[in-house]
Amino acid sequence: MKQTNEMRHIRYFFYKHGANAQQVSRKTKKYILGPKMTKRALKERLSAVIVTKSKYPEPADISDEFCPNCGCESSKTTGNMAEYPEVWVKETCLRCGFLVGMADNSSWDYALEHPEENYRLD
Ligand SMILES: [Zn+2]
Repeated sequence: MKQTNEMRHIRYFFYKHGANAQQVSRKTKKYILGPKMTKRALKERLSAVIVTKSKYPEPADISDEFCPNCGCESSKTTGNMAEYPEVWVKETCLRCGFLVGMADNSSWDYALEHPEENYRLD
């Protein structure tokens, strides 16, 4: 039953908003993103992350990828905002807009690689 409801919400979402959704109802948002993680669960998840640095230009290997601000796994990317061969891409959390990763003429940088800076990239 839950599955059919979910499909209904998602179908409605894309029919109404297509690719440039700005606002959706709370109900639809909940169906797409799922319930928010509790602070405690988020802390535990953050402390369990293992970061393995790789040699440039390979990005670091992250054992678990999610938004360090809210624990959400959905994100949206800006695509490349500079002209080839320049690279400038930002990826933000779909729920809270937190910058979860970016590349600025560099290898991909995850916010999860920087716990000492409160996971802030900018
Ligand atoms: Zn988030």
